[in-house]
Amino acid sequence: SESITVGELAKRIGVKATDLIRVLMKMGMMVTINHPLDVDTATLLAAEFSYEIENVAIDMDEVLESTPDEPESLKKRPSVVTIMGHVDHGKTSLLDAIRETNVIAGEAGGITQHIGAYAVELNGRKITFLDTPGHEAFTAMRARGAKVTDIVILVVAADDGVMPQTREAINHSKAAGVPIIVAINKIDKPEAKPERVKQELMEFGLVSEEWGGDTIFVEVSAKKRVNLPDLLEMILLQADVMDLKANPDKEARGTIVEAKLDRGRGPVATVLVQEGTLKIGDYFVAGVHFGRVRAMLNDRGDKVLAAGPSMPVEVIGFTGVPDAGDVFISLPDEKKAKEIASYRQQKLRETELAKHSKMSLEQLYDKI
Ligand code: GDP
Ligand code: MG
Repeated sequence: SESITVGELAKRIGVKATDLIRVLMKMGMMVTINHPLDVDTATLLAAEFSYEIENVAIDMDEVLESTPDEPESLKKRPSVVTIMGHVDHGKTSLLDAIRETNVIAGEAGGITQHIGAYAVELNGRKITFLDTPGHEAFTAMRARGAKVTDIVILVVAADDGVMPQTREAINHSKAAGVPIIVAINKIDKPEAKPERVKQELMEFGLVSEEWGGDTIFVEVSAKKRVNLPDLLEMILLQADVMDLKANPDKEARGTIVEAKLDRGRGPVATVLVQEGTLKIGDYFVAGVHFGRVRAMLNDRGDKVLAAGPSMPVEVIGFTGVPDAGDVFISLPDEKKAKEIASYRQQKLRETELAKHSKMSLEQLYDKI
């Protein structure tokens, strides 16, 4: 639950912290300036000083909460897939192969842009791939509470088998509750042993259907482009089982997948829209930054006017560079977006200040 410190409240209502502390003492609370106050106490105190406080902290919570959707407002959405696996087992090759195959099948001569994610289409249905470096992005985003991945493709090289990062990937996926599809890669190699990989993965509870389990296995070669459509079909099948849905008819919410400062365009970030629809002109907040959507580009570099659930778009219009994993929320008005961003910036400064003062205290003790 949100709270506000004595010091913050004092600042917000424009009174001395010592005066607040004195009133609190009268109420029987012996507190310091950093003491957190719940909303009721804060409101009571503000009233004591005859201020009407619009409690920003509470507003924050309301804004951050996603409004529950009526079941009938939910529509099917594409799945969002992350490829994970041990180094050199072919993650990048597989991503590239899937993308190129699809680009060729799609519009001829389409120039692809690196935006950290891309969408492919099979039988008129879309799949979104995140191509940020697997584990780190996945864990960093999870650490921030962002859930962006619906399905993990675990790449295991048929000539190498289960390796440390394979295990890590399995553990991360399981911890996040994300289903795994196994892509046994490099089956073009003479030394490939796909059956051995299946055997090894049994120990982790990943048992293929032919062996009585329910994990989907696909044998592929990223290099020779073997069975890639099969892999995509299996992803669509898994997505059907999961019955992935979102409400496209509301303000957009999503997650920052990648962000950078572009020389010509200023701060740009790839937003994976997860609910609602993002449109040109929308105000938004992401982490400590606010902005307004000036332009949006898809993974082919085409301008788009709107982006619905599971669609990744590069957004231009940030006032600063957000962090990957930051929650992106579009808001009806600029004032709110600014207010939240500045509140968060203040919070961030306070945390950093606290870190610094703690450090200097530790340094002081070191010297004694
Ligand atoms: P990553 O570290 O998991 O991203 O692996 P890469 O995609 O960089 O691939 C590592 C190496 O394996 C590269 O030399 C690729 O050319 C090779 N490689 C990837 N996929 C295949 C495949 O299907 N067959 C063969 N023979 N080599 C592959
Ligand atoms: Mg790679």
